[in-house]
Amino acid sequence: MSNLRNIPAIDELLEMVPIQAQVHLFNREFLIANLRQAVAEIRQELRSNGEQCSKEELTARISAHLNELLSQSSRGTLQRVLNGTGVVLHTNLGRAPLGQRALNYLLDMARDYNNLEFDLESGERGSRYCHVEEILVKLTGAEAGLVVNNNAAAVLLGLHTIGQGREVIVSRGQLIEIGGAFRIPDVMKQSGAKLVEVGTTNRTYISDYADAINENTALLFSAHTSNYKVVGFSADVQLAELVNLGKNRDIPVMQDLGSGILTDLSAWGMQEEPTVQASVASGADLITFSGDKLLGGPQAGIIVGRGSYIRAMKQNQLTRALRVDKMTIAALEGTLLEYLCGDPIHNIPVLKMLTAKPVELAERAELLQKALQQAFPEDWMVSVQTVETEDMVGGGAYPTHRIPGYGVQLNSVDREAKPIALHLRRIDPALLVRVKDNAILISMRALPPAEDERIIDLLIRVYAQRAKNRPEAGNEPCKD
Ligand SMILES: *Cc1c(COP(=O)(O)O)cnc(C)c1O
Repeated sequence: MSNLRNIPAIDELLEMVPIQAQVHLFNREFLIANLRQAVAEIRQELRSNGEQCSKEELTARISAHLNELLSQSSRGTLQRVLNGTGVVLHTNLGRAPLGQRALNYLLDMARDYNNLEFDLESGERGSRYCHVEEILVKLTGAEAGLVVNNNAAAVLLGLHTIGQGREVIVSRGQLIEIGGAFRIPDVMKQSGAKLVEVGTTNRTYISDYADAINENTALLFSAHTSNYKVVGFSADVQLAELVNLGKNRDIPVMQDLGSGILTDLSAWGMQEEPTVQASVASGADLITFSGDKLLGGPQAGIIVGRGSYIRAMKQNQLTRALRVDKMTIAALEGTLLEYLCGDPIHNIPVLKMLTAKPVELAERAELLQKALQQAFPEDWMVSVQTVETEDMVGGGAYPTHRIPGYGVQLNSVDREAKPIALHLRRIDPALLVRVKDNAILISMRALPPAEDERIIDLLIRVYAQRAKNRPEAGNEPCKD
């Protein structure tokens, strides 16, 4: 009991040198809460083991423990992840990493004031919607454009503006659900438009649309079925056919393009994804797509098309609730500028990763393999091999397409792979890997080459810790 009395009071601790130094670095309430926790835990330890410690020793211990607690609790929950899964557009990992031009632009606009809603020529209030529009028009050939929070919002806004209280015709083969609860029929309901389904799951003909048109029809809607494919006995109406029907009957056509790629990737063996320009050229009145899928920018919903419809959408009250902030506008404009006057294949990370040459990926994988092989002593019993991987686009695009890539596979003779994968997720930055047949598989494609050295270091560190903790001890978190 007397030993516990050696623990200084909180007020006293706050005055002591090692802790006082922290007072200026942290929010006071936050620091005191952590200090109380540190004291409570040290007290608990002393109670259970009956150790005798002097006041000085206790202060040092409390201070050390406080530092540990502070470093654990003073970082945000959003953390960097190194993506070793080989899935380039991983929705759970924030989709597209931004390119340097977008980051620079974003930093400049976010750090200072900007003309978000100010017309510098007239010196009067301007519109935030004019910013990205001009570049979108130049890049896609559309008459006008508008950016909202995400593609789900873009679809909702389009349906609400044009279809509210009226009928919208959709093929049953396109009543899609996208990950994260985006279902065309539900969005339709929320927009106040009445869904008129035509055709069957595997076959829809242009006559099905034509037969469903009546005086209440507001819109012909087409969704790019980006995350699945109907193969075999199937028939699809081409966008151009639908546009033709719409023109003849004076009904607009809207296409939910999903990914919205601006660069033709067929030279890299990817042919399934129609470009935005192609959709515009085929005459669709409105086209919606995501900013953070194959475009490689920030989360955003982009709408391009006929000026009259875009104007109507801008005036819709709903647009205010779906509007984007200056950071999205800056990151998107920075990304689009890369398409306009830069080198998108090399400077937009998503495109760079998707078009990476297999030999380059193989070289990086071999370097990683050699470094690990050299660093892992024999008695860790880990075999490291360079292997071929089946990478994916992700984000619902190119659902059936596998991109041949390279990676490193680690097999531990006497170890389960899953706890190792967990350990790798717990470091900062986390390294996300695939576990396959009880082996750790790391694909090079979605890992930034600049991080290869760091990845070598962190793998060595984690495997060393696990070798030390043999037999399988805890999964204690560790820090970088
Ligand atoms: C991804 C996708 C959406 C949803 O887009 P978000 O930007 O995630 O809101 C809608 N439709 C299609 C066809 C998609 O591929």
